[in-house]
Amino acid sequence: PDPEPAGSDQLAMAGMLAAGIAHEIRNPLTSLRGFLQLLRADKQRYSDIMLAEVDRINEIVNELLRLADPKPREPEQKPLLPLVRSVVTLLEGQANLMNVRMRIETDEAAEVAVVVCEENKLKQVFINLVKNAIEAMPDGGEIELHCFCEGKRVCLQVADRGSGIDVQLADRLGQPFVTTKENGMGLGLMICRSIIEGHKGDLQFDGREHGGTVVTVSLPILR
Ligand code: ADP
Ligand code: MG
Repeated sequence: PDPEPAGSDQLAMAGMLAAGIAHEIRNPLTSLRGFLQLLRADKQRYSDIMLAEVDRINEIVNELLRLADPKPREPEQKPLLPLVRSVVTLLEGQANLMNVRMRIETDEAAEVAVVVCEENKLKQVFINLVKNAIEAMPDGGEIELHCFCEGKRVCLQVADRGSGIDVQLADRLGQPFVTTKENGMGLGLMICRSIIEGHKGDLQFDGREHGGTVVTVSLPILR
């Protein structure tokens, strides 16, 4: 039998997904293209970097395929910290290329805090936030990932020393296609917002005293 025609909701979702995928794949592609141009000058070094970038595209595509898994998933009970660690591992290559270091700090309670979540979606949130932090520091620096518990919530703060969020953007953050980047799609924070809402969590953006941004995700603790 013919598949049912897609409703406008489904079309909108497909468009959003396609845009999201394009967004994720474009960064390594841009980098590959640049290194291809440089390759003429210095073969060995640049081909190593290109290989690493190809591996990264692969990783991203694998992540996306996992995210796009159409099977409806039951929310799972997961400790938050290993999830944060896996995101750091995933983005280490990109951070290194930008001279950015990532440091995880956690209090005792957050060390074992469990949340009810769809793991891959939550991962996508942390990936988007850490990527924004990396992209905010073109001259490199340190990103602190701070996990702590506050009452019945566990929080993850992603703190960078970048440019800080443009004040004109403040009340439009999380709306689609809001971006200040030449190659940006402005979808990352929208995706973060909708996923965090779906997890009964909260997302907050603050400036830092000596420059930079702190993004705080808070989620209900299961135990
Ligand atoms: P994109 O990264 O494609 O631009 P996002 O939705 O992830 O889209 O972010 C939207 C905008 O919010 C960015 O273009 C940037 O201006 C701002 N922004 C987000 N995170 C940060 C950050 N850590 N530091 C400075 N600006 C940020
Ligand atoms: Mg982004």
